[in-house]
Amino acid sequence: MKKPIYVTQPYLPPLEEFLPFLEKIWDNKVLTNGGPFHQQLEEALCEYLGVEYISLFTNGTIALVTALQALRVTGEVITTPYSFVATSHALLWHGIKPVFADIDPNTLNLDPAKIEAAITPQTTAIMPVHCYGHPCDVDAIQKIADNYNLKVIYDAAHAFGVQDTGGSVLRHGDLSVLSFHATKVFNTFEGGAVVCPDAKTKQRIDQLKNFGIVNESTVVAPGINGKMSEFNAAFGVLQLKYIDQASLLRKHVDAAYRDLLQSVKGIRCLNDAGEKVANYSYFPILVDADYPISRDDLYQRLKDNGIYPRRYFYPLISDFPMYRGFLSAHRENLPVATAAAQQVLCLPIYPDLDISVAGEIARFIAVQ
Ligand SMILES: *Cc1c(COP(=O)(O)O)cnc(C)c1O
Repeated sequence: MKKPIYVTQPYLPPLEEFLPFLEKIWDNKVLTNGGPFHQQLEEALCEYLGVEYISLFTNGTIALVTALQALRVTGEVITTPYSFVATSHALLWHGIKPVFADIDPNTLNLDPAKIEAAITPQTTAIMPVHCYGHPCDVDAIQKIADNYNLKVIYDAAHAFGVQDTGGSVLRHGDLSVLSFHATKVFNTFEGGAVVCPDAKTKQRIDQLKNFGIVNESTVVAPGINGKMSEFNAAFGVLQLKYIDQASLLRKHVDAAYRDLLQSVKGIRCLNDAGEKVANYSYFPILVDADYPISRDDLYQRLKDNGIYPRRYFYPLISDFPMYRGFLSAHRENLPVATAAAQQVLCLPIYPDLDISVAGEIARFIAVQ
């Protein structure tokens, strides 16, 4: 490759279209604390995503931490080792014990049977991830939550815009948390959100992200500063104008990879999980034993040729030093996640990636 091709490249609208937004901010001098763009983006996202209430955040991690606080989650929470480390870090910030359960080999999402087997008297919640934007087995998870009286907080950082047959995948569970980080499908530079089921929950979350302040003289909880600024909110309003166009471009890249890689021996493309509207946020492949070289050799050869895929999610969260002491983090407990982490490679996918470049990458993989 003449220019390095990274796993992703943030989508940016034309700069001149952002300038009027900045002028407005300069005019009204409201920079944060739920200003007009903040309100506008919340409304626009509710409409676009098809959800009732949304609370914007400075990033997805603070949103996760606040979601746990809002639901007063304590004790143990069952979660996936196959994710970005922020998922479990949010638990540790509350002194909650993460309990890792293994994943399903087809979707790489939490396996409901493994969730149920990990429940103890201390369990208060489940925190699954819609990995790569593929929906979890939400019905099975809700059934377990109902049976054992557990909360469900979805880390939906990958699932912006994803729909199942009933609508937005973000409507499931007690809360869903989004990330608008630069690397995500919809970005506000940095940003995040909590999707709430009702006005009361949104109000509590709005207070918690603003130090727990209720009014001038009342503070009800040790809240954090998690507010999204007007700069990020304004940028989000503009980004939303281009999201469908960007998703369509991603879809074409996804289709090109699938077409060229489906017959390559030893390469398995991850299928969708039955979603009605996908977001094509990632393009993971699994390098099996009958591929001529190992995953890491392929990774290295791609890099030597200017192509920079990522091994999401290797290492597993449960292998990091602050987690590996937990009994549930032992690899014998997580054989499917351990195998996936050894096999996975996420190929470059983003709206501005040339289909011809995706084709070159796929053909490179085919001839090793
Ligand atoms: C990106 C990501 C987060 C964290 O979001 P930030 O906005 O970067 O704080 C959390 N969980 C998962 C699965 C992610 O991919």
